[in-house]
Amino acid sequence: MQTLDALNTTLRSYLNPEQANHVNRAYFYAEQAHYGQRRRSGEPYVTHPLAVAGILADMHMDHQSLIAAMLHDVIEDTGIEKDAIGEQFGPTVAELVDGVSKLTQMEFQSLEEKQAENFQKMALAMAQDIRVILVKLADRLHNMRTLGVMPPEKRRRIARETLEIYSPIAMRLGMNSVRIEFEDLGFRALYPMRASRIETALRHARGHRKELVEKVRHQIEATLQQEGHDAAVLGREKHVYSIYKKMKSKRKSFSEIMDIYAFRIIVDSVDTCYRVLGCIHSLYKPIPGEFKDYIAIPKANGYQSLHTVLMGMHGVPVEVQIRTREMEDMANNGIAAHWLYKSDGQATQGSHARAREWVQGLLEMQQRAGNSLEFIESVKIDLFPDEIYVFTPKGRILELPRRATAVDFAYAVHTDVGNSCVACRINRQLAPLSEPLQSGQTVEILTSPGARPNPSWLDYAVTAKARSNIHHFLKYQTRDDSVALGRTLLDKGLSSFGSSLENLPEKKLRDFLAQQRYGSMDDMLVDVARGNRLPMFTAQQLLSSRDEGQPQQSDGAAQPVAICGTEGFMVCYARCCHPIPGDPIEGYLSLERVWSCIASAAITWWIYATTMSAVSRCAGMTQ
Ligand code: MN
Repeated sequence: MQTLDALNTTLRSYLNPEQANHVNRAYFYAEQAHYGQRRRSGEPYVTHPLAVAGILADMHMDHQSLIAAMLHDVIEDTGIEKDAIGEQFGPTVAELVDGVSKLTQMEFQSLEEKQAENFQKMALAMAQDIRVILVKLADRLHNMRTLGVMPPEKRRRIARETLEIYSPIAMRLGMNSVRIEFEDLGFRALYPMRASRIETALRHARGHRKELVEKVRHQIEATLQQEGHDAAVLGREKHVYSIYKKMKSKRKSFSEIMDIYAFRIIVDSVDTCYRVLGCIHSLYKPIPGEFKDYIAIPKANGYQSLHTVLMGMHGVPVEVQIRTREMEDMANNGIAAHWLYKSDGQATQGSHARAREWVQGLLEMQQRAGNSLEFIESVKIDLFPDEIYVFTPKGRILELPRRATAVDFAYAVHTDVGNSCVACRINRQLAPLSEPLQSGQTVEILTSPGARPNPSWLDYAVTAKARSNIHHFLKYQTRDDSVALGRTLLDKGLSSFGSSLENLPEKKLRDFLAQQRYGSMDDMLVDVARGNRLPMFTAQQLLSSRDEGQPQQSDGAAQPVAICGTEGFMVCYARCCHPIPGDPIEGYLSLERVWSCIASAAITWWIYATTMSAVSRCAGMTQ
């Protein structure tokens, strides 16, 4: 069991005293926060966060991760708030703890949706700081190690979740040691009978093989020494779950799988890897087609090694992996190995930068090797947070750009859904279509058969698909539709002035159309529907056009000039000046007026004449 003393010994080996002190302070904080709480095993609760911090300390993670590990259940279990943690340990730690808590809460909701792979993506996307995932993995690892005390039903559920979700995440991040432990513990909890059978068989086989393994190992070592290579030769044993998987997928018997002797050779440089390979191939005959160069062509998660299978003595196949010490650490710890190597002297470097570096390294390896980038795609999502991931109600995952809204979501589902969408539910709650979505939300679109895209959606739709579809629809909606829509809008406008299209005298309408140079009533309605004319203002124009077309009284009082190009705006004329047609004039947008008129959706213009004309001249010519 992890004790604080043991942890401190590890901390002293790679952290400075001040950082180690902070971790200790976090321990006492957690001890107090969890005071009186006990684990199911009966131990004080604080033993759990202590063990989680211990796992991360063994990976040489930075002190902030360790503090977050100590406090990872505090928000969830003790009601202490994120802000309180921020005050004590700084905002970064508070964010980490909060991230882990969110991840913990999420597994309950999303598991119903049974989307293991989506969940992996989501988990990566949700955690803005990759250390959140590492703390969560360590948390899960300790829970798996102490799974025995749980009731069988719960044990199985946790084990399945670990196999389906956490071990693939560990694999994606290249953390092989953690993955293997997840798999073996998960397998034992899920299939105790099968696991114990394989374990018994493994123990037997080990006894029989011992002598031969030693012999082969000795031969390899002797050959390498002869050639002057400084190399460590390790016997390697397959773990229980991988044997089981192989038996199942390749339909092989236990003895067929176990009839392979496996070794790993660790050397100091890449160069030596290939030399050692040469030695080994001259010692035993390699089996054709079994050689793989993962140094030149690394696996997707960054794994590098040479693999070869040889025909050993008595014809037993001997599997050999050759790699450098660094490759070995990378294979075992993956992304965490980055902390292992870079932890000295670069304390200022953010975890994000480090994770990015790791992905960058993978990218370069992949580009050199020229194989699939799929893995990078899945990992980069938390490092390049320009995308969000949201669920459909059926659990399908959709990738959208940041700031995408339900309208974008609707069009991403299907163009028809977008075109007929009327409202949305975000996490089962009605929400405005304009609300920006966030990773992890479940979005449901409500449609209605008669619905159509609204021009205002263009204000907040961000995806190209949504925008082009809305534009397309508005442009090509049939003329009849436009006319009907225009009629409705204009009628609405008129009704707020206590009038309606029906009540409007025919002559007034005709005069208005002629004055505005419309060939027909429908032409004007189409303009209203497409947003080229504001309905409210058109209504106002229609009602006030009483005197249009009639000779105006030339009583000397100034009458406004009609100004081309202001259709659709509310125009106010300055009262002091009296321009005549042809005079240059200026207008300006008045915010005050806009605000005061915004209810009628009109924009106010003040027109000033730049020439001061004589009142009489003006009056005489304004007709
Ligand atoms: Mn925990």
